Amino acid sequence: MLNGIPVSPGIVIGKVLLLDSRMSAVPKYKIKKDRIVKEIIRFTKAIGKTKRELIEIQRKFVDKVGETHAAIFDAHLLMLEDSSLIEETIEQIRDKQFNVEFVFFTVLEKAAKSFSAIEDEYMRERAADINDVGRRVIKNLLAKKHINLSNLREKVVLVSHDLSPSETAQMDKNKVIGFATEMGGRTSHTAIMARTLEIPAVVGVENITQKVFSGDTIIIDGVKGAVIINPSSSVLEKYLKKRAEIKLLERKLSRLRYVRADTLDGQKILLAANIESQDEVHSIIMHGANGIGLYRTEFLYLDRNSIPSEEEQFNAYKFVAQKINPQNVIIRTLDLGGDKFISELGTPKEMSSSLGLRAIRFCLKQPDIFKAQLRAILRASHYGNVSIMFPMISGLSELREAKMFVEAAKKELDGKNLLYDKNIKIGAMIEVPSAALIADMLAKEADFFSIGTNDLIQYSFAVDRVDEKISYLYRPNHPAVYRLIKMIVDAANEADIPVSICGEMAGTPASVLALLGLGLFRFSMASVRIPEIKKLIRHVNTNGAKKIAKHVLELSTGKEANRYLRSKIKKIISRAEIEVYG
Ligand code: PEP
Ligand code: MG
Repeated sequence: MLNGIPVSPGIVIGKVLLLDSRMSAVPKYKIKKDRIVKEIIRFTKAIGKTKRELIEIQRKFVDKVGETHAAIFDAHLLMLEDSSLIEETIEQIRDKQFNVEFVFFTVLEKAAKSFSAIEDEYMRERAADINDVGRRVIKNLLAKKHINLSNLREKVVLVSHDLSPSETAQMDKNKVIGFATEMGGRTSHTAIMARTLEIPAVVGVENITQKVFSGDTIIIDGVKGAVIINPSSSVLEKYLKKRAEIKLLERKLSRLRYVRADTLDGQKILLAANIESQDEVHSIIMHGANGIGLYRTEFLYLDRNSIPSEEEQFNAYKFVAQKINPQNVIIRTLDLGGDKFISELGTPKEMSSSLGLRAIRFCLKQPDIFKAQLRAILRASHYGNVSIMFPMISGLSELREAKMFVEAAKKELDGKNLLYDKNIKIGAMIEVPSAALIADMLAKEADFFSIGTNDLIQYSFAVDRVDEKISYLYRPNHPAVYRLIKMIVDAANEADIPVSICGEMAGTPASVLALLGLGLFRFSMASVRIPEIKKLIRHVNTNGAKKIAKHVLELSTGKEANRYLRSKIKKIISRAEIEVYG
């Protein structure tokens, strides 16, 4: 049994499909005649990229250990210039018409075999070099191609070092029934996608890719964060029983779909859903969400070579707006960057840092991309109840500039006589500490706030939200977080604008208790979390929650606050005899 961070609840039992750069994961497929040239170009580009990588590694290595040991890389580089390997690969792509990864792999295998059969030890080592370099080239080829997770033939549990959010977004949830990765934290976008797709998942499982093989039986316990490889029959039986219990609980909770989420003392609470794609609309209706509190539009932009057109975006937003009407849909403008690029090829370096040129900063520098999206949102607003929200606002000037873009987009639509909601509301996500600190000023110029705790925590504690090595410092229930949230809520109330929360804390029972106490009455979360949170809230008294929040604000450590909130929520759960699994 291995342990990791549980990020998406549920239990699955299935067969492993191991991804990563292992040779066994090399795909094999036939190509058409007209693809041959493209396939060869792909090959030469991958060789070039691998060369550049090796030169860079060599340079660093020389700095560290000196010229002598770094000579190994000369041998590796020579291999990439070995015309027999390259020519044979190109010839075989032409002859046999298979994909380049597969052809190159077979050519390499043959070469490695002939080297390892030679008595001479030096020559035998060349076989290892061939494998090493070959692996790099294949990795580069695969990275460009992305393994097609939307087209798997049988049900699998994916095990991988890392999964990019776009890979996760591609998954066909009828085929990928769960996954475990070595990288990632609870609020990484891959984890968020897993919850959205309702795929049980555990991340941050150390060295799991070294411990399983494709075809092994695996249990993913997305509640406890456990991963069990090749379980004994008694363990298997125990988990089968557990899985049945969870299914039963889900069925019971689904009966709450049409029930209101008000507290015991009658405070009206809104529970909206976070979505990443238009395909989730049905699921959020089934979970009884009060509209969409966060539509993460960037997933429309991932995993493709070109930016979606205004028309394509308009159709997606219009579809959602119409389905959810008359309830509100908050469409967040492009929030690219940070981990929503990790393990993708071709990421502009400055965007991959969570502190870099990303989200609204990127949009303000790309007027064409930004305005096309704004026009698409505005046009969709004619068909429903739509609001616009900007991510990562760090100060007033940014908010003002972004609003000016909306005005410009409106003018362009006016010029073409295209319709939109003239009173569309424009809100700001509060997820950067500087914005929280001037929330009173922002509240005067924004129509609403939505608190993005995933990033607010990341930036407050200076803890990368996807780095599992420092995940112990990522503390949602820390009094520092609640103090910031209190500032934001108080500022919004003072200015009389709505404030909601759309980070992962909104779907976490212990946090919800404190948030209610701070006066937050609008929550937006993965739709799977809604029934359980609704059930809890219906057993909470706002006065009691206020006392709890007040106490938390005065505690000195995250650990203490966490323990305190968990004990309080446990009491409510047992008093109300509620079953919870999240
Ligand atoms: C957040 O930061 O809390 C949030 C909801 O946005 P995202 O997770 O997409 O960054
Ligand atoms: Mg965010």
